[in-house]
Amino acid sequence: MKIALLARNPSLYSHQRICEAARARGHEIEVINTLRVSINITSHKPTLYYRKRRLEGFDAVIPRIGASVTFYGLAVLRQFEMMGIYPLNESVAIGRSRDKLRSLQLLARRGIGLPVTAYTHDPRQAEDIIDMVGGPPVIIKLLEGTQGIGVVLGDTMKSAKSVIEAFQGANVDILVQEFIKEAGSTDIRALVIGDKVVAAMKRTGPPGEFRSNLHRGGSGEKVRITPQERTAAVKAARTLGLNVCGVDLLRSKNGPLVLEVNSSPGIEGLEKATGVDVAGLMIEFLERNAAPNHTRTKGKG
Ligand code: ADP
Ligand code: MG
Repeated sequence: MKIALLARNPSLYSHQRICEAARARGHEIEVINTLRVSINITSHKPTLYYRKRRLEGFDAVIPRIGASVTFYGLAVLRQFEMMGIYPLNESVAIGRSRDKLRSLQLLARRGIGLPVTAYTHDPRQAEDIIDMVGGPPVIIKLLEGTQGIGVVLGDTMKSAKSVIEAFQGANVDILVQEFIKEAGSTDIRALVIGDKVVAAMKRTGPPGEFRSNLHRGGSGEKVRITPQERTAAVKAARTLGLNVCGVDLLRSKNGPLVLEVNSSPGIEGLEKATGVDVAGLMIEFLERNAAPNHTRTKGKG
């Protein structure tokens, strides 16, 4: 196969590992910097150019689109799809996962366990939505935050209200969520490929930090997850339509609760904690689903 890795930084561990795994399995892979691609939208003849060269002959594309370039990255990925190139994750599915409110609404519709979550645009209702999720302490979260940045704990009604007002004053969209105290600064990151959890780790935040993200200084260790957690993670991935994703789960007294679904999950922490060849499994998924001369349907909006 000839694979395009749509990514900005080829030297990131995850991207290096994906290239290594593809080459080890006999494929050709090229890293394409998302922001250096230009798009030609002509009826019946979608094309892409990369530093003036026309992109052609690819069988599959692995999108690794950073949160800050979601808009342009998804436009480039849609163009690959219009050209009949198989995406590891589809642009529409990535779009769903990038908005925490939208994803939680979709997951709720399927009956997946979630922390009680509320949203309002009206600053006068800040107190009401804090009460709606059970009162302080509450979590306040940016709809498009990642790596734990933009996840704040509002300890008291006063502090929660002022955080909500500050975000709303700056015209930033947020959601307010029940704080799952019993999770005790830990969460589960489950990596789903296809319809399986292939690796899982328990992440624990550093002392005094409720956020367990590795980017916030958390540490990861291999964990055995329960069948219920496995089912929740796979169902969340299916609901958003993602073939490969990292599902964040909290262990609550009422069972597993899904926090979010990451469509470009980092694999460094996970591979190191579990010893699983996650990159190899991603390439294997493409081998099964994007075989050369695969009959493809063109273009999904
Ligand atoms: P991000 O996209 O920034 O990773 P998450 O929703 O995954 O946002 O939250 C980051 C971390 O904060 C989680 O991994 C978890 O440790 C903690 N956290 C988030 N929401 C809650 C919650 N409702 N209750 C307890 N801890 C939470
Ligand atoms: Mg997260």
